Amino acid sequence: MRMYDIITNKKNGLALSGEQIRFFVDGFAAGEIPDYQAAALLMAICLKGMDAAETAALTDAMTRSGGMADLSSIPGVKADKHSTGGVGDKTTLVVCPIVAACGVPVAKMSGRGLGHTGGTVDKLESIPGFQTTVGTERFLSIVKETGLAVIGQSDGVAPADKKLYALRDVTATVDCIPLIAASVMCKKLAAGAEAILLDVKTGGGAFMKTVDDSVTLARRMVSIGHQMGRRAAALVTNMDVPLGSAIGNALEVIEAADALRGRGPSDLTYLCLELAAHMLTLAGAGDMEQCRVSAKDALDSGRAFEKLRAMTGAQGGDAAALEDYARLPSAPVTRRFAAVGSGYISRIDPELCGVASIALGAGRLRKDDPIDHAAGIVLERKPGDRVAVGDTMAVLHTSDVKLLGEAEAILSKAVTIGSQPPKQPKIIIARVDANGVEYL
Ligand code: URA
Repeated sequence: MRMYDIITNKKNGLALSGEQIRFFVDGFAAGEIPDYQAAALLMAICLKGMDAAETAALTDAMTRSGGMADLSSIPGVKADKHSTGGVGDKTTLVVCPIVAACGVPVAKMSGRGLGHTGGTVDKLESIPGFQTTVGTERFLSIVKETGLAVIGQSDGVAPADKKLYALRDVTATVDCIPLIAASVMCKKLAAGAEAILLDVKTGGGAFMKTVDDSVTLARRMVSIGHQMGRRAAALVTNMDVPLGSAIGNALEVIEAADALRGRGPSDLTYLCLELAAHMLTLAGAGDMEQCRVSAKDALDSGRAFEKLRAMTGAQGGDAAALEDYARLPSAPVTRRFAAVGSGYISRIDPELCGVASIALGAGRLRKDDPIDHAAGIVLERKPGDRVAVGDTMAVLHTSDVKLLGEAEAILSKAVTIGSQPPKQPKIIIARVDANGVEYL
């Protein structure tokens, strides 16, 4: 079999066989297929698509590219969640501790920043000492000890995703339904949890810009989960505005810790409590109303915050940094970004905010680029707020003053000010599960 022929088939719009897909995934994970051929195939998949059978075969090959965690020695139904990627999306850092504090063990594998979106692994690594690459044995023992572990793809677990993810990030091959579905689901299947909640982001800051595409992606992932014998459901949630106020790794850790200490932004807290309640229900911890009460109690009592501290300590991180934010990386350079008009903020384009944050150093332009954990943006105002010329809209954080100019230019295109307050969008738009799609 030749990689050249596989690329040609996909370029011509043909469906790939399971054997061809395995040849590609195994060969790429083993380092036998070079990046340039893998990138050509990824681009052909983006342009020509993959049907449900090809997507399932890709997911299966990526799942089997490494070991799979066997969580059966941990009592109870284990839960996991995954977001398809957004701007300011630090929900994992809030939702997973809430669920774990309700007694449902959480065993999660996350990713790094992708395209204009941030990634949980990069956020966690901004906590000094935090290890996101731990062996499967240690992953299991942390879930047993603390009820919660969050790791990244490694050479041992989902190695094909680790390599493909890094390549997609820099080759404009992220926003593709089969590639996202396989990337997300291989991590969920390899990490071993029985109950999987997917948070499919939709809108300008998501990879899926329309609700229809987001529902298609949600259906495909839920169906793969069911085929593999897991409980799976998805919420389609709004990403037409950055979530919360902070964008950038350490800045988002601070906002997540704030949310767990009862002082987070209302949109973030609302979404996290709902995601937690859906995850708990999926894991069999009660009906939605009972699970909403349990999630709120775990948050209000401080038990969820304690779970984040416990997980951080168990994964080698400085748990004190979750209260003493001076222990987190902080940017030597900050600059106020002021409103240039007066009226109501009608839009803050989330994708442009993500791109501006990368321009400040928070993300990668090339595969091996280091990232600046301190860099990012804190929005002081959100759509619907009134502003006057000169009011602070946001504060930019960076370690390199030379990066400010480009970020400011991008951000100035992100903000629209109008004379009327905009309609506030719904945060949760639809739920997809075994019964189909319910628009909420
Ligand atoms: N999250 C993932 O893990 N993979 C994707 O492709 C997109 C979001």
